[in-house]
Amino acid sequence: MVNRVPLLAGNWKMNKGPLEAENFVKDLASTIHDNESLSKAVKARIVEIGVFPPFVSLERAKKGIFISGIPMSLGAQNMHWEDNGAFTGEVSGEMLKEVGCKYVILGHSERRHIFRETNEMIGKKMKKALSIGLKPILCVGETLEERDGGITESVVEEQLEEAFRGLTGPLNQEGNVIIAYEPVWAIGTGRKASDEDAQRMCLFIRKFIGDKFGFTAAQNVRILYGGSVKPDNTKGLMSQADVDGALIGGASLDVESFLGIVKNTIDVLL
Ligand code: PEP
Repeated sequence: MVNRVPLLAGNWKMNKGPLEAENFVKDLASTIHDNESLSKAVKARIVEIGVFPPFVSLERAKKGIFISGIPMSLGAQNMHWEDNGAFTGEVSGEMLKEVGCKYVILGHSERRHIFRETNEMIGKKMKKALSIGLKPILCVGETLEERDGGITESVVEEQLEEAFRGLTGPLNQEGNVIIAYEPVWAIGTGRKASDEDAQRMCLFIRKFIGDKFGFTAAQNVRILYGGSVKPDNTKGLMSQADVDGALIGGASLDVESFLGIVKNTIDVLL
């Protein structure tokens, strides 16, 4: 039986500058400190808490985590596939590693839809991130139109196919890759997918990984659900066998709601 530690990843999007990021992380940590059972569970790594600030806030968030002594992982929201060069406005994976990032979110639907990122570009980013030891959180998910058209699985399958094109098994064997199923219609809308739909799609993704990279890879890969996760809908979601955590937007911007999700996840696990 594989023990996949649930990841609760707060995607802050374009919110919280450096000072606010550091203060938020410190507030989060001190609230955890003050609650004995929560602090014990987080320190025992029953769950993994991750924060994903904007680029300019990464360093201060890292400082806040270091000072607090509470284990929290740091990640970025995007990266370029080249190491350096004439790519105005872009940031490389190596740069993210240098400021202490463990993770990078790739292919978020806002990147795909607002910034026109293609499956091919996301595939290049996946290869680069994995080659330098940065763990990608690959986002996949269908639009409402695609869902209504009954093509959810084929859309997600194509996104996965392209993201993993040219990658070989061992890259995924050590649980290096995280996948987030994020139906586009559920992001920021208050309309979460049902627990059953989230489970069905997370299992679909796990099967894809199994077919492509084998049983061990499928057992190791953590698959998150994202889209309007809030404290009051966490327990049902986290009780699903193939849901290994959540990618959280809006609710991760507030200490109380983010910790509500953490606490409810721990309740399901203990
Ligand atoms: C997200 O941005 O990945 C997300 C899931 O946002 P929200 O939780 O606000 O729906």
